[in-house]
Amino acid sequence: MTAFVSGAATDVGQVRAHNEDTFVVAGTVFVVADGMGGHNGGEIASQVAVDRLADIGPINSINDLVRGVQEANADILERAREQPEFRGMGTTVVMLADIERAGSHRLGVANVGDSRLYRMTDSGLHQHTEDHSLVEALVRDGRLTRAEAAVHPQRNIVTRALGIDDKVLVDAWELIPVVGDRYVLCSDGLFGEIDDGEIHEVLQSALSPQDAADELVRRAREAGGRDNITVVVVDVVEADPGVERPADRVAGIHKALSGEVLGDAGPITSGPCRDETPSGFVPPTVTRRVGLVTAAVLFVMIGMLVAVSAIGRSGYTVSEGDNGTVVILKGRDGGFLFFDQTLEVESDIDVDELPPTAVTAVRDGQRFDALETAELYLENLRNSSDSSGS
Ligand code: MG
Repeated sequence: MTAFVSGAATDVGQVRAHNEDTFVVAGTVFVVADGMGGHNGGEIASQVAVDRLADIGPINSINDLVRGVQEANADILERAREQPEFRGMGTTVVMLADIERAGSHRLGVANVGDSRLYRMTDSGLHQHTEDHSLVEALVRDGRLTRAEAAVHPQRNIVTRALGIDDKVLVDAWELIPVVGDRYVLCSDGLFGEIDDGEIHEVLQSALSPQDAADELVRRAREAGGRDNITVVVVDVVEADPGVERPADRVAGIHKALSGEVLGDAGPITSGPCRDETPSGFVPPTVTRRVGLVTAAVLFVMIGMLVAVSAIGRSGYTVSEGDNGTVVILKGRDGGFLFFDQTLEVESDIDVDELPPTAVTAVRDGQRFDALETAELYLENLRNSSDSSGS
């Protein structure tokens, strides 16, 4: 048995004319979505996503969350097809929900975009989700510091969102609910204005979830309120007794691509297992809040930055092989030049059959620290090549 007490608050901020954020608290499902797009498209996109996720039926596994996010993505695309003025609208989504399987309970988390889930435990405040944003990719690549990213003029560019492509990569986790843990779902309007230290301080001061949500929104607004601000605070007040409690609360991590869930946490009664860590994956869908900056240009830009920084570093590069297929090359630790790379994986994917943005990205070379992340990217290319109807 699990039980939660929650509170939520949202505010348009001091600059924007509309609030394009939407949240929902529906039973044991909690969602924050941050919409983007002209002609009120952002409000529509976040609302469509939240409506779908509030009503996905019984949640028995993490796959149900991922499926829900993918259905929300399809709903937004469908709506944009029906009403051309909404073309290009999109939304981030971060979701926390109770999972019930054979009488046992876990917490499911799903994330696409740069809204966040934080968790406060005895050991402090932890940002659970990874931002799918341009600045986060540059930080991971060592090209920006955290401090620089926080004030970067392009910090609102997201590298993943719903409503952009019929395929969406969803990060998802299964967590162990522990009484006393406090979760926060929020849009970037919160952490764009106040830092993690201040968020922690507010959450620690023993406020009710509603008071905490109100106070966080108030502070972000007071600090500038340059974007819409939305916060949902969820306290775990009841949980299954006697389960293991790893510090990160993680019982399973899933990466879902195009409807396939990679890896499985197994039955809920099993001990914690860690499938894989969140990746530095930048997929071939890049969008921008408000306004239509072409995805191709941004993707090429990121691709070039990533490729340039590849030189002289260890890791893996997805690029075009001698025979025109996509390959994964392994860099040499401490090696001095690009030419030292060796062939790690040879695929049967023809570069010519990929969508144009992906062709450019592959020819520029895409860098990854881990082989499994490079392989995930390769799988994504395979799917996009299948769907482009060769
Ligand atoms: Mg925002």
